[in-house]
Amino acid sequence: MGRKTKTTTQFGAKFGSSVRKKYTKATTNLRQKRNCPECNSIKFKRIAIGIWTCNKCGYKVADSAYETTTV
Ligand SMILES: [Zn+2]
Repeated sequence: MGRKTKTTTQFGAKFGSSVRKKYTKATTNLRQKRNCPECNSIKFKRIAIGIWTCNKCGYKVADSAYETTTV
């Protein structure tokens, strides 16, 4: 997929390794499949930082950048 390489170069040397490690953990979280809390569709996904939306029923939620724990 090459996505992992892309995110790494995106941050480059601008950030320390600890930040990168944190970011990797966050993106790992993002890759987990999530279900829409409304219709339980797997089309539920993050469209922007902190914004999740469902392509099926149109449910939209603003949440923390990396989790949807408050739904
Ligand atoms: Zn839905």
